[in-house]
Amino acid sequence: MTASPLRLRIDGDALVSNWRALDRMSGTAACGAAVKANGYGLGAPEVAKRLAAAGCRDFFVATWAEAAELAPLGVSVSVLHGVRAEDLASVGIAGARPVLNTAEQVRRWREVGEPCDVMVDTGMNRLGVSPEEIADGLLDGLEIETLLSHLASADEDSPLNARQRDAFAALAGRTSAKRMSLANSAGIALGADYAFDLTRPGIALYGGIQREAHGGVIRQVVTPQAQILQRRRVLAGECVGYNATFRAPADMDVAILNIGYADGYLRCFSGKGRAWAGDTELAVLGRISMDLTAVGVDAAPELGEGDWVSLDYDLPATSALSGLSQYELLTGLGRRFDRVWG
Ligand SMILES: *Cc1c(COP(=O)(O)O)cnc(C)c1O
Repeated sequence: MTASPLRLRIDGDALVSNWRALDRMSGTAACGAAVKANGYGLGAPEVAKRLAAAGCRDFFVATWAEAAELAPLGVSVSVLHGVRAEDLASVGIAGARPVLNTAEQVRRWREVGEPCDVMVDTGMNRLGVSPEEIADGLLDGLEIETLLSHLASADEDSPLNARQRDAFAALAGRTSAKRMSLANSAGIALGADYAFDLTRPGIALYGGIQREAHGGVIRQVVTPQAQILQRRRVLAGECVGYNATFRAPADMDVAILNIGYADGYLRCFSGKGRAWAGDTELAVLGRISMDLTAVGVDAAPELGEGDWVSLDYDLPATSALSGLSQYELLTGLGRRFDRVWG
């Protein structure tokens, strides 16, 4: 296959460095990795392979199809959405076990009789059995590897954090679980009493920063890069792009990049996004098209057709600029990128 005019540069050293930093911040708890949604868009097998080599032992995906993709790696995979009737055919995927979320899933898994994880809801009201169901014996006799709960507001200073932590801590010893796991990326930054036995970072592995404790530690991992398809002269008063939202204040040079909203570079970057040619900053001009984006290149006279430009994609800053969450910025990156690890 010919190389795409669009690539994601993925910094494998930064990924591993981020995991190691989160592992250190997890104290005595083990540090796992959330690799659902294709490793937040980076490619789950490629991410898991590198983190497993660094010492990561616990991986989290959403579905059994995602677990199947990791089977060749021989790693332990927890399937966060549990087990539906339709999933029973997938049971036996090497290393995979469900995170049971409902009484129905618990009943279904008792028939299988294998080890599992269990999610308990401590106040988010998303997935999970209730502490009351546990007290009533729902999990009795089940062989549980890890008891999980999930924080609703770990990225904020909310009283809900301590409430959830305390509700979860109260379940210690109430099930057969060998380990307990509560913290996602932001939860790790809340302190040692949130780490329990196993942490489950996702976004911070991939360069997301939601709390101060991660600033200066977590490194950017992903940079979208697009090739220039055309360099053109635009005269003063002429317009660029759909609906003529940019009008040239003076004669200027414009480069048209092979990236657009169909690639996840959404219309909110219209007139706002930035790109880099080496150290030279380039401003996005006018509307983002489906497959194309215009940038001003007066500051980069050497830049021409076929050259590559990096989109500015520091996650916290790009999230603030665009109004998209750091998660959406990663998981929205489309299928037309060559994912290039370096
Ligand atoms: C996605 C997810 C994580 C990882 O969360 P981040 O905020 O990306 O660190 C951890 N646990 C569960 C249950 C999740 O769904």
